[in-house]
Amino acid sequence: MALVAASSAPAAAAEPIEIFDAHLHYNWEPKPYYQLDEVLALFKKHRVTGILATSRPNTGTHALMDARHEGLQVVPFIRPYRVRADIQSWFGDPVIFDLVQDEFKRGYYRGIGEFHLSGKSAENEWVKKTVDFAVANDLYLHAHADDEAVEILMRHNPKARIIWAHTGFGLSSDRVTAMLSKYPKLWGELSYRGGITDGSGKLTPEWRGLFERYPDRFLLGSDTWINERWASYGDIMATYRAWLGQLSPAIAAQIAHGNARALFAAGR
Ligand SMILES: [Zn+2]
Repeated sequence: MALVAASSAPAAAAEPIEIFDAHLHYNWEPKPYYQLDEVLALFKKHRVTGILATSRPNTGTHALMDARHEGLQVVPFIRPYRVRADIQSWFGDPVIFDLVQDEFKRGYYRGIGEFHLSGKSAENEWVKKTVDFAVANDLYLHAHADDEAVEILMRHNPKARIIWAHTGFGLSSDRVTAMLSKYPKLWGELSYRGGITDGSGKLTPEWRGLFERYPDRFLLGSDTWINERWASYGDIMATYRAWLGQLSPAIAAQIAHGNARALFAAGR
């Protein structure tokens, strides 16, 4: 069998491009969808070599950090949610700000998020405190927010560094361009982002243009917010690789892992 397998393998099969998954939830409610050894094997199988790890509650992130798995860079972010319902109210809840400060004491966190904000809900004083806390402690923010809320976050503290979960979903590419050009410390994460490819899987001219103009401003993510996303993890990565393969190798490498590696380089 080994002989057959060897002879039928392509002569020089290139390894798939490494991916840094910059939007990952390893939720633990009360147990994860995949056990720790299974999830680590899943990353290896799909050549995911780095993750922006969050979890609700933060237990899952602790477990990933404690695993110290070789070949996987884990970049932990503080999730400001205890339970799902906190999505709706965290921005006005001082208890959540306490949670963030307490969790930060673990000493290894690089950011706060993913959190959800829509429009003027970002104006809340507890949101401003969170942004200021992030800036004071050299933390990134991971915001699932519309463009109005992103602008309010930037106004709270112009030194904020924001990873923009979903990059506005269906927001026009012109508006995305305007946001990236106005805010040099804004990076677009691309899970659930519409318009990148057409119906046949080909990169659209608008998005090819965005990637070529801002090659250092985009990140990939799985957004494993529900079990179905874990079940289709391999498909999500394959879909990314299919359009990355249509870009120049240098730009593809930046988006696939280079940008995340640069943002989360060791030492700060
Ligand atoms: Zn998410």
